[in-house]
Amino acid sequence: MALIVQKYGGTSVGSVDRIRNVAKRVAHFHRQGHRLVVVVSAMAGETNRLLGLARELAAQPDPRELDVVAATGEQVTIGLLTIALKELGLDAKSYTGAQVRILTDSAHTKARILDIDQAKLRGDLDAGRIVVVAGFQGIDAEGNVTTLGRGGSDTSGVALAAALGADECQIYTDVDGVYTADPRIVPEARRLDRITFEEMLELASQGSKVLQIRSVEFAGKYMVRLRVLSSFDEVGAQGPGTLITYEEDQAMEEAIISGIAFNRDEAKISVMGVPDRPGIAYAILGPIAEANIDVDMIVQNIGASGHTDFSFTVNRGEYRKALEVLEAQRGKQFEARELIGDHRIAKVSVVGIGMRSHVGLASRMFKTLADEGINIQMISTSEIKIAVVIDEKYLELAVRVLHKAFELEKDGSGATQV
Ligand code: ADP
Ligand code: ASP
Ligand code: MG
Repeated sequence: MALIVQKYGGTSVGSVDRIRNVAKRVAHFHRQGHRLVVVVSAMAGETNRLLGLARELAAQPDPRELDVVAATGEQVTIGLLTIALKELGLDAKSYTGAQVRILTDSAHTKARILDIDQAKLRGDLDAGRIVVVAGFQGIDAEGNVTTLGRGGSDTSGVALAAALGADECQIYTDVDGVYTADPRIVPEARRLDRITFEEMLELASQGSKVLQIRSVEFAGKYMVRLRVLSSFDEVGAQGPGTLITYEEDQAMEEAIISGIAFNRDEAKISVMGVPDRPGIAYAILGPIAEANIDVDMIVQNIGASGHTDFSFTVNRGEYRKALEVLEAQRGKQFEARELIGDHRIAKVSVVGIGMRSHVGLASRMFKTLADEGINIQMISTSEIKIAVVIDEKYLELAVRVLHKAFELEKDGSGATQV
């Protein structure tokens, strides 16, 4: 008898029929004698709808109130799923994040989980009850409702699994595992049986939204056994999904490149003609950090005649704010000839732990893009990743040609030598 946390995403609970199906799947596991904590997202599209309503009233709604609105989506699905479970004759009980007491910090719309009170959940589990918890939400020390950032129900699931010491955290979604690339963009993409935690972390951080990055961070920190599965497989005939592994040695032998990720959610800001002097990066990025805006890629050109150009990327949602911050500091903290913003960019990343031991992968990537006439605007690398910023209009083409160039559609593809 295992303790399993199952998380069901928006599409999986997108209609009353689908909620009924989730209930049947949960019942199946319960009948096998497992103890179950079920975490649900809002119905597909609901969080967007709720945020849209708020934005009809204000261009930049108050973040505290935005969370009050956004958190309601998951309150609906916990109630509906619990009703469906009871209809199947099972004992179940729903909890909002606040009712559990999933304590977070106060960073509205992107709060971090600090602690989870296990008392009520353990009581219910011990009584043989199925516990249904709202994903994506918590409560801060002052009692304010908080949300965990888009896709945050994954993190709720993994955090609950970590807190309760669950045997496995199963993320049920609309694909049957983690693929070599988003199967919506690359039809030939292949499901991976296993992927290392490090690679999954990199893929998630580079934009593969199949798992929210914080959920992978949490899983790594607490060594949660994490599996991605389809909620559309027949109950009782479940595919194996993708297991996130913590043993690198085996995977090492299998793949050089494990996947391609992309991100359309960034924007580029270029500060042109700034003095090429010590402290200039700090003068530009310091105020950005103070405004709590995350910076991703940074490029500073080689200076000429005492001046240089400085470019960086931020999340698209924070792009206007970043430009405003820079305009306010220009002429005070730093001089600049021009500030240029471009939100029509996209980032494509190739990820694989085999990069540590194989050379020539970057040049293969650059050649593949060059052959298609795709200009690379920025490059960044880590030990297991090469990422490039390109014009957004080439994104899908770039992902497909890279998938082909690295032969990711072939089983054991990573074994491709360069
Ligand atoms: P949920 O609502 O269940 O949380 P998401 O839409 O957040 O589902 O995540 C699942 C989606 O992630 C898939 O439908 C797929 O389009 C996308 N995705 C992106 N990259 C990958 C990948 N490498 N493998 C599988 N799915 C991916
Ligand atoms: N409902 C939230 C969202 O759409 C959280 C989630 O689905 O994980 O972002
Ligand atoms: Mg998701």
